[in-house]
Amino acid sequence: MKLTTTNGEQTPKSIREVVEAGLCIGCGLCEALGPSRWRMAMTPEGRLRPGRLADEDPAADADILGACPGAVAQAAADPTAPNSDPVWGAYHTMTEAWAGDPDVRFRAATGGVLTALGVHLLRSGLARFILHVGADPDAPMRSRWFMSETPRQVVARCGSRYGPADPLAGLETALARKEPFAFIAKPCDAGALRARAKQDPRIDRFCVAVLVMVCGGASELGKSQGVLDEYGVAERDLTVFRYRGYGNPGRTRIETSDGRAFEKTYGEMWADEATWRIQTRCKLCPDAIGEAADLAAADIWPGGSPTGEDAGINGAISRTAQGQALLEAAVASGDLVRGAPHEPRQYDDFQPHQVAKKRAMAARLRGLLSAGSFTYAHSGLRLDALDGDDPNEQTGAKQRVESGRFSEQLPDLRDETT
Ligand SMILES: Cc1cc2nc3c(=O)[nH]c(=O)nc-3n(C[C@H](O)[C@H](O)[C@H](O)COP(=O)(O)OP(=O)(O)OC[C@H]3O[C@@H](n4cnc5c(N)ncnc54)[C@H](O)[C@@H]3O)c2cc1C
Ligand code: SF4
Ligand code: SF4
Repeated sequence: MKLTTTNGEQTPKSIREVVEAGLCIGCGLCEALGPSRWRMAMTPEGRLRPGRLADEDPAADADILGACPGAVAQAAADPTAPNSDPVWGAYHTMTEAWAGDPDVRFRAATGGVLTALGVHLLRSGLARFILHVGADPDAPMRSRWFMSETPRQVVARCGSRYGPADPLAGLETALARKEPFAFIAKPCDAGALRARAKQDPRIDRFCVAVLVMVCGGASELGKSQGVLDEYGVAERDLTVFRYRGYGNPGRTRIETSDGRAFEKTYGEMWADEATWRIQTRCKLCPDAIGEAADLAAADIWPGGSPTGEDAGINGAISRTAQGQALLEAAVASGDLVRGAPHEPRQYDDFQPHQVAKKRAMAARLRGLLSAGSFTYAHSGLRLDALDGDDPNEQTGAKQRVESGRFSEQLPDLRDETT
């Protein structure tokens, strides 16, 4: 029998069940909505997970579960979007784009679209601050959330942070300001924000734009630690940990307080998939292409990988009328430059891993269910329509559950509060 992938009876009913099933991505919403019960903690495996500060209270956590990416995943794109593709979803336009400021374009992960849009929102007065993540100044291998209030701050926090990051831990602090803001984050974070907006009207009132990168997955911190180990650098000596940028893709670069510096090319960093240490939720991700966002920015290397350094051109997919209006306004102001239009079949070539993942997901979820594990409920993401029905995907997921490879432990921080 083919199990439905939207079986609400097998969605997690507590934060513990989300984490233990490997469905937590560490978005930080637990800490924002239940600060007396949860604090985000780095696990020994290098994952950010909600650590319990008090006895568990699933009733009190119901609001969190209503938006948690481990329990629910939904497309939230504009139903009036004029275009729709089976793989790439609803959109207004797909286009090349890059930052109008050459310095932003150079420093940013790709062409600086996300940073340029953040800068534009601040300059135009449409947003008072940007909620996003950047390197922790005290521990630059790690990431933390910030509310960037000036263009300079947004630019300082540009670039991809490939390790754990919990931008939604800042959500309540951001909303408490009662000022317009934009959110730049990963697709799963955006999905959680949109789902939360159904319960909290302040989000639609104050969040003027949701901008994401197309996302291949977030590594455990051990991926970054491996770079330090290779060069014999202690984390306490780090002053810079940059994953890419300063070129496209740019090099991974670390600097130390005693003046040492080490670099790896993108190819050296990511050539061996066995070392990526991608988190489980990413392998089960139903929307890594930003269907809950107003606009998604992507890399557009033919075949999906860079062949060298280039000037940095993003693909930009505007998904809502707001995203399209923001794109137009940023282009008109010069903060953004628009290049040639794209169409979905080009994206199949730019992002072959995303196409494969969309087609594999229904079978992977069936594998989880057949092993008695949980899945998230999903809607609007076309997983069933795209179902490749690959028995290897289903069997592989089932075996991973049964062997415990997807199992995680809920951090217990109660001792730290006494
Ligand atoms: C974990 C990860 C996986 C990725 N996988 C892919 C992929 O498969 N395909 C693809 O096309 N592109 C992928 N990228 C995105 C790509 O590297 C570029 O970030 C994207 O094209 C945006 O480029 P940009 O120049 O506009 O970004 P920038 O202008 O440099 O802005 C990046 C913004 O993203 C935010 N950010 C960075 N890291 C994180 C994070 N971990 N969590 C939340 N917010 C973050 C920053 O705060 C900043 O505001 C990935 C990025 C990350 C972080
Ligand atoms: S994915 Fe986010 S909301 Fe869900 S358990 Fe993890 S930190 Fe909490
Ligand atoms: S692959 Fe999906 S779950 Fe993983 S970080 Fe990216 S958007 Fe989140």
